[in-house]
Amino acid sequence: MPINGPDDGMQAILHRTRNTRKNMNFNELGLDAMLLQAIAATGYTSPTQVQVRAIPAAMKGSDLLVSSQTGSGKTAAFTLPCLNRLIDRRPAQGSGPRVLILTPTRELAQQVENAVKTYGRGLRWLNTACLVGGAPFFAQAKQLSRPVDIVVATPGRLIDHLQRRKLKLSDIEVLVLDEADRMLDMGFAEDIETIVAATPASRQTLLFSATLDGVVGKLAARLTSNPERIEVADSASRSGNIEQRLMMADSLGHKARLLESLLGGADLQQAVVFTATKKSAEEVSLSLQEKGFSAAALHGDMHQSARNKTLDRLRQGRIGVLVATDVAARGIDVAGISHVINFDAPRQAEDYVHRIGRTGRAGRDGVAITFFGSREMGMARAIERFTGKPLAVHVIEGLEPTSRPSAARKPQRSGSSYGDRAGTARDARPGAGKGWSSPAGDGRRPGGGFSREGSGFVRRDDAARRAPDERSAAPRRPRADFR
Ligand code: AMP
Repeated sequence: MPINGPDDGMQAILHRTRNTRKNMNFNELGLDAMLLQAIAATGYTSPTQVQVRAIPAAMKGSDLLVSSQTGSGKTAAFTLPCLNRLIDRRPAQGSGPRVLILTPTRELAQQVENAVKTYGRGLRWLNTACLVGGAPFFAQAKQLSRPVDIVVATPGRLIDHLQRRKLKLSDIEVLVLDEADRMLDMGFAEDIETIVAATPASRQTLLFSATLDGVVGKLAARLTSNPERIEVADSASRSGNIEQRLMMADSLGHKARLLESLLGGADLQQAVVFTATKKSAEEVSLSLQEKGFSAAALHGDMHQSARNKTLDRLRQGRIGVLVATDVAARGIDVAGISHVINFDAPRQAEDYVHRIGRTGRAGRDGVAITFFGSREMGMARAIERFTGKPLAVHVIEGLEPTSRPSAARKPQRSGSSYGDRAGTARDARPGAGKGWSSPAGDGRRPGGGFSREGSGFVRRDDAARRAPDERSAAPRRPRADFR
């Protein structure tokens, strides 16, 4: 199904209603009519929990500490009250921006700026600037030479502009820290303090984070005054819309075969595959391309323009499989991503939550599958503790692991399809689906499942008809097992 086809749009609206609070309407939140119009144009029918709770509180002027996960609708929860404040277009005291939104990554900053433009479409005079590393500094400086109302930035690049006096923050009325936990994880604590010190003490501070404990709590105590604390339980990653699976993998070669099989599944639209390193992201992506998948890598060593281009192609549906590292994939919000596959298990449970949040966007259903080696089961348990959800063990017929999880993980406990030949795992066999190949050169998903002849692509039908064992015995291309 095309990502942006009409049926898809309708489906999205139907799904969206699921993760939202019933009997609540956007027009009960006290937002300006111009913003309500923009919201209606997006197709949202009702506000999500975090929006219901955070928007009125922010509009009262309180500082907020909001624990919310990615996918919960948090961007609109802070963007809408900021825009509402700007509607009267009271000129700033000086010429500096009135709202500053800090995010941990470039992709997330761009995503947030897009959201600001979407919800602020009725404010024709509104000027925004997105200040992120990897993009030309002087183009950003030129943008800042004209009045800007809202700045969205990553901390490092913002500090560069402050130090070179391209920007002043003395007119800031609202400071938003988005994914504050992640910014601290990424070592931005000092930069954040420097930036905050350049803003007026009278500002309103809205801090959003997956967790409000530990170091985040300490930072919050320093930056906010008498904050209202909002904890939201129904974030996408903790609610049931993402099916979370575990697959045991014996070796790199085994992972490669599992991955190939999963990517051929009937229910797969687009996938993000996570690897532990930039090098392996490149290698896995190349290997998948060689096998006929429309895959591309995304990692921090790529130039920002290449990263942007890759994300655009992903959004347009021209890339079926994005192979990414943690940081690069943060903030990706593409409705067509039906599957997240952790080729390498994450190192921290928090990273797991952020990774799987790339699917199940806007209340849709998603599937997250993590490959674990037998020595990595401690991480599987840590993830289950963190999310409060068991990982259902799946196997693919013909690709069973030699090592098996402990007895406690057998089907009785998770209700999963471990060894269940009739379960979802069987649907993921290569023959079961249309497959994600790259026949037309544009990477769009083919109706008939053919790949381009004469260019090293496999004809998907043939590949699908062969049993997994046969495929693994077939002559290998040099990089076929991602080494
Ligand atoms: P976020 O948590 O801000 O990354 O948002 C996740 C996704 O939810 C984005 O695709 C938003 O466009 C979408 N979204 C935000 N608010 C709503 C809403 N009230 N109803 C449906 N979808 C929404």
